[in-house]
Amino acid sequence: MSEIEHLQARGEALIRDASATAGVRVVVSEWVDSEVGIGAVVHEMGLRPVSPVWDAHGLLDIGDSLAIHPASRPTKYFPEKGSDTELTTSIADAVQMLVQILLWERGIDPTWPACPEHGGRHPLLARHASPHRTTEDESAGPSGASARWECPEGVTSIEIGALETAAP
Ligand SMILES: [Zn+2]
Repeated sequence: MSEIEHLQARGEALIRDASATAGVRVVVSEWVDSEVGIGAVVHEMGLRPVSPVWDAHGLLDIGDSLAIHPASRPTKYFPEKGSDTELTTSIADAVQMLVQILLWERGIDPTWPACPEHGGRHPLLARHASPHRTTEDESAGPSGASARWECPEGVTSIEIGALETAAP
């Protein structure tokens, strides 16, 4: 599997979440710029990415996209680097910023994904987490950890790719 295929495979669950719950179609495309450490970009489907940025505050023009680092390699002190869950959470951060700005541009509440535990008042955060907090699914891989959307204060923990269309 090539680098971009690997990143795209890890991004699938996020593309599904964005489409299912925000009605926003995003894609992961190849964009390699080794000087600034870009391995791919996330952008709205149907638009050609033009100038990748790292932060949604700079994302105001049509065709702009959010940059993703290439898959990193595990190191002694960060053995989870480059793991599938680590990749998924890093792509999740970019997809989250992009979806939020696309919703905002459409005049829709940009809190995404909205926390169901707190009435949608804040977004969930993507984390590399073990499933012990959850009561709703046991779909974590053999390692026990998975990439999840979590409430930073409450107990909500939803596997990335399993967001539901529940009304906020
Ligand atoms: Zn919450």
